[in-house]
Amino acid sequence: MSDQRSSAERVDHVLQSILASITPITQSEWLPILDASGRVLAQDVVAPENLPAAPVSAMDGYALSATLADAKQADSGALHLAVTGKSLAGRQLEGVADPVGAVRIFTGAVIPECYDCVVPQELVASTSSDKLVVIRREDIRKGLHVRDVGEDVRKGDILVARGQQLSSREVALLAQTGCARVLVHRQLKVSVVSIGDELRNVHQPLNTGLIHDSNRLMLLDLVHRAGAQAIDLGITPDDPASLRSALSQAASVSDLVISSGGVSVGEADHTRKVLDELGEIKFWRLAIKPGRPLAYGFIKKEDKSQTPFFGLPGNPVASYVTFLAIVRYALARRAGQDPLVTAPSIRARLLKATAKNVGRTEYLRCWLRPADDGGWNAEVMPSQGAANLLSLAQADGLVVLPHELGALEAGSWVDVINLRLA
Ligand code: AMP
Ligand code: MG
Repeated sequence: MSDQRSSAERVDHVLQSILASITPITQSEWLPILDASGRVLAQDVVAPENLPAAPVSAMDGYALSATLADAKQADSGALHLAVTGKSLAGRQLEGVADPVGAVRIFTGAVIPECYDCVVPQELVASTSSDKLVVIRREDIRKGLHVRDVGEDVRKGDILVARGQQLSSREVALLAQTGCARVLVHRQLKVSVVSIGDELRNVHQPLNTGLIHDSNRLMLLDLVHRAGAQAIDLGITPDDPASLRSALSQAASVSDLVISSGGVSVGEADHTRKVLDELGEIKFWRLAIKPGRPLAYGFIKKEDKSQTPFFGLPGNPVASYVTFLAIVRYALARRAGQDPLVTAPSIRARLLKATAKNVGRTEYLRCWLRPADDGGWNAEVMPSQGAANLLSLAQADGLVVLPHELGALEAGSWVDVINLRLA
């Protein structure tokens, strides 16, 4: 094993120290809940009222008092009840609620105070005039099909905790409880810059040796999907002066800076030196495949504050994987998220034996195949090149093989990041 690999840093350790060094942005703003989706809550939201606020019916049927029915006709197999009113969702009770009678009731309608049970309409025999119903004793029980006060949410409960990123689920909950606006961290600003003499924008023609810049668009999209404002800072050539000005500009307009390319140790790789001048470098080599090298550090601004910086490898798949493994968590932490939600992964069985080097975390592109037992098999794709975006685009998932693991046999259980959901 080469010195280089032994000096490389473990992905999980690096992630922990990176997260420990990142301070969340402090500014916050009040937003209507729909606009706040994707943002991180800056203070707990507490339920102002019970939900439901009054007991409501969970079925269409007849409301009655099970307590009185118990007392009144204990021996009888069926109850004959006069229907004296009707309760519809959102409406006042029509008629009256007679404690020894029943009212016609519909889902979501308030249950009159004297009742404690709803019998579904399909269990009830009604007369042609609907003024009298016959209900079997065995279908009556206190609390049946009653949604009680505070059953879903109790006044004072924490509905959504500070540090949580809002999604459509929380938006619905907040709407349900009448919470129209929330205090959220302001949107994170993340700038993305590509470094390399060979890079051209997608619409530009290419001469020999030039390539289109794919990383920047990929990273801008990943940043955007993470809920941050993505700032496009274009392409910077492999030259220290340009890099210096690009990175200082990036730091001045954003809360976090991501570059790709130019972080290796080649003669055209100036990021390390420039970052040393502008601030501080933390890590250079990551025990990851595909991925290393990864630069992490801070760019010092004129006001003495520091902007976290990630220099991702130039190879597109390596860039993608390091974003997924490290940068997105840093971004979430900087945006105020706590605790961090880890990648949704599924368990699958490897279809074939797979080589693996002990001492690094490997991310293998795979197809997911339905298994006979209802689970999933992972078929590792033949092309795993760090530059091969075609196989990344075609992959269903990334098999994650932890640092300490060696080669795996066919049938081994592995975790797979589901890229169809990522
Ligand atoms: P580097 O990290 O600069 O040594 O680049 C490693 C490889 O990734 C080289 O083949 C570069 O041409 C390629 N590369 C660097 N930046 C990008 C980019 N933004 N888009 C696509 N490929 C890139
Ligand atoms: Mg380069």
